[in-house]
Amino acid sequence: MSRWLIRNCDLVATFDDDDREIAGGDVLVDGTVIEAVGHQLSTDGCDRVIDGAGLVVLPGLVNAHQHLYQGATRAIPALERALIGPWLGGLGAIFKEWWQHGRFEPAHVEAIAAAVLCESLLGGVTTVADQHYFHPAGPTRPYIESTIEAAEHIGVRLHACRGTLTLGPDPDVVQSVDEVVRHSAELIAAHHDPEPGARVRVALAPCGVHVDELALFDELAALAADHPEVRLHTHLYEKVDTDAARERYGRTPWELLVEHGWAQPRTWLAHVVDPPAAEIAEMAAAGVGVAHLIAPDLRMGWGCAPVRAYLDAGVTLGFGTTGSASNDGANLLGDLRIAALAHRGTEPDDPTRWPSARELLRMTTRGSALCLGRPDLGMLAPGMQADIAAWDMHSIDRIGVHDPLAGLVLTGLSTRAAFVAVGGEVLVEGGEPTRLDVAAIAARARAVIPALPE
Ligand SMILES: [Zn+2]
Repeated sequence: MSRWLIRNCDLVATFDDDDREIAGGDVLVDGTVIEAVGHQLSTDGCDRVIDGAGLVVLPGLVNAHQHLYQGATRAIPALERALIGPWLGGLGAIFKEWWQHGRFEPAHVEAIAAAVLCESLLGGVTTVADQHYFHPAGPTRPYIESTIEAAEHIGVRLHACRGTLTLGPDPDVVQSVDEVVRHSAELIAAHHDPEPGARVRVALAPCGVHVDELALFDELAALAADHPEVRLHTHLYEKVDTDAARERYGRTPWELLVEHGWAQPRTWLAHVVDPPAAEIAEMAAAGVGVAHLIAPDLRMGWGCAPVRAYLDAGVTLGFGTTGSASNDGANLLGDLRIAALAHRGTEPDDPTRWPSARELLRMTTRGSALCLGRPDLGMLAPGMQADIAAWDMHSIDRIGVHDPLAGLVLTGLSTRAAFVAVGGEVLVEGGEPTRLDVAAIAARARAVIPALPE
């Protein structure tokens, strides 16, 4: 493995324990890990020295919630303006129709996932938590295995979240609890790497209490407990689950998780838009993480999750995009800008309550990494994985920026990263991929995405 130095960067934002920001800083990489961060580091033994002039350098961004296969269903006309119920039903019908006509095979998912992972990488994302939850009834087809293959091809770390529907309204796309547990165990045995530096980990991820058997939550909590670093993930407080939990069980979604063994540090939750205030303290005490997903929350008309309350309570807060069917993109930096602006409307008279650019960047680096159980990611410090993303502050839309970190979030156009490395491998340099043929990856995905059903 090589040893290289990126030198004299405009700013190195470490997100380490002291939140060090180093103007004119260097990052030294040896093999797959960071050896040092500081000023005027020695170039002894380096194969390469990269000029960091104009660059703001961050830990690689971590997307804490994504559905890669939904890259095939962006901007569906009938779902452009739809509430969550019709949106879920409409989307599910499209994938079912494609699958029934042999147009949604694991190889198709591989091509679509590769394209969205490539898009993510070009935007500075180095780790993605992907929940694949479309599974026809019966023995599980290797959709998730295909997604893992795509991640290995692109070079991005993947937390493969084994999604489920075990109680959905359509029996054709509902699996039994037994089959989910069987396949989850198989997936862990074949692909889960519990070690620091892991490229692939498996998480167990029912879609939610509204579409899954409660017994599944018990079974998956027990399965996770048997395997180091296997985490638990689900959607919570996205309106439909709140209604179903009350009507079916007379509980809140969180109360159901507590009752079924999910109020624990292995758990991280997606959305959590409008929990009762008292439950936020319970989430913090239980050590669960929350992934903030501003773009889909706004697209679904839900408004802003109580981010300041989470921060005040000490909840581990990450950030993600969710899938490209309810985001239409995989652009974390772009979504940070939306978050920076949207939250101002929730507390218009108190700017101190608005999330700052630094808080949002921290969520998207170290916060997301901690949600995923990755203390080896999300920070630029000696011994950490060399996952690095940098943006060019000399771009045309960033003249006049006086605070590079805030400027990165608040300026809006050049969201593509200038430089990206994953585990020490440089994958983007000078804004261009070093080994990926982006046009070919996009063409391959376009070729397998069918037309919409009549
Ligand atoms: Zn989701």
